Amino acid sequence: MQRERSKQLYEEAVKFFPGGVNSPVRAFRSVGGTPLFIKKGKGSRIWDADNNEFVDYCASWGPLILGHANTAVLNRVQETMQNGTSFGAPTELENDLAKLILSNNSFIEKIRFVSSGTEAVMSAIRLARGFTGKTKILKFEGCYHGHSDSLLVKAGSGLVTFGNSSSAGVPESVVNDTIVVSLNNKDAVKQAFEQFGNDIACIIIEPIPANNGLLLQDKEYLQFLRDITKQHKSLLIFDEVISGFRIGFTGAAGYYDIAPDIITYGKIIGGGFPVGAYGASKEIMACISPDGNVYQAGTLSGNPVAMAAGIAQLNECLKPGFYQGLENKTKKLIEGIIAAYKHPTIPFKIFSIGSIFWIAFTKAEKIQSAEEIDGDSMNYFRQLHASLLEQGVYLGPSGYEVGFMGEAHTDVDIQKTIDAFAKAFETLN
Ligand SMILES: *Cc1c(COP(=O)(O)O)cnc(C)c1O
Repeated sequence: MQRERSKQLYEEAVKFFPGGVNSPVRAFRSVGGTPLFIKKGKGSRIWDADNNEFVDYCASWGPLILGHANTAVLNRVQETMQNGTSFGAPTELENDLAKLILSNNSFIEKIRFVSSGTEAVMSAIRLARGFTGKTKILKFEGCYHGHSDSLLVKAGSGLVTFGNSSSAGVPESVVNDTIVVSLNNKDAVKQAFEQFGNDIACIIIEPIPANNGLLLQDKEYLQFLRDITKQHKSLLIFDEVISGFRIGFTGAAGYYDIAPDIITYGKIIGGGFPVGAYGASKEIMACISPDGNVYQAGTLSGNPVAMAAGIAQLNECLKPGFYQGLENKTKKLIEGIIAAYKHPTIPFKIFSIGSIFWIAFTKAEKIQSAEEIDGDSMNYFRQLHASLLEQGVYLGPSGYEVGFMGEAHTDVDIQKTIDAFAKAFETLN
């Protein structure tokens, strides 16, 4: 496979951007080599700058649940653009997307659109603090919530710790208000509430943690978080930037039937355009400016073109059988890959839920916390990734990332992928 053009473009890009990219994981540092520059996508497939074709399971990291250049989305976007692209004044399209979401999701009563998942989460945290009048937040090691300061914090050593900043430039004073504990650990959460209970504004969790492997939690654990936050008058935030509209239209809240206080959305909600959102009960949302005193704003928030894309995409998601279809295809893919796996010594698993899957080289039957992931096993992922790429199958370039099945994937794609895995497995050592 020729990748000359991508290599040239990357050499040029490093002169413009740190690491040659505008978001770090794209630089291929975890798998080695240089990134593919993508020039086109249609349905389940993408083409790079050298005209190589790939079956894509990255899906722009999740947003493209219908596949690339979906006709319904593109038509709606083109039609909308003809009337201008931004006004900084309300449009009917914002109402339409809100109506579509709120009338099909009983977990939130009001919503606010922003322009990214990071912004949605950052705003949700401010809202939780504003509503409760408390300061500290509790998050989990192994969950990602975007790149705002108070969430770029990783666990220190010990059961309950104020984290250490996971990025330079995040002040100690900010880190000191973020408590970080392990997933799937009740004692740590209990202890945090014993120590700081009166001052914990919220617990934030990805109810389906899918940014550091796929660390599926037990429903009972999520219910425990619901109960303990209620007891202490703190809020529970579900960060559903990945799981929202992915695990069914009502996301993880609907899947587990657990009602958090605030939910954040992103990715799928924008149909491939930059949209995020947060929603809650009317009472909690009444704190948001201009009704309340928690300030939050955005020049391009509720952008009409992005709203149009979101409306078109979510209308497709609402069609009967949509999510079941994705899940069935995902099962078929996984069964095929597992059947093709014959390595005598290296253990291999695929963890999945709905249309999300995670490839892990592990003996473990379950992996529910970040500490259980064996960093050394990523060496196998690197080999797998390289071979799959060579055979025209594109996975996100890191073994900590999950893959996404989409509406556009066909039986032909699935078979091609299984065959590619079978060949890739032969190269593992
Ligand atoms: C992607 C993601 C974010 C950040 O969203 P951006 O649009 O990249 O800012 C936050 N939380 C979760 C759970 C995510 O998956």
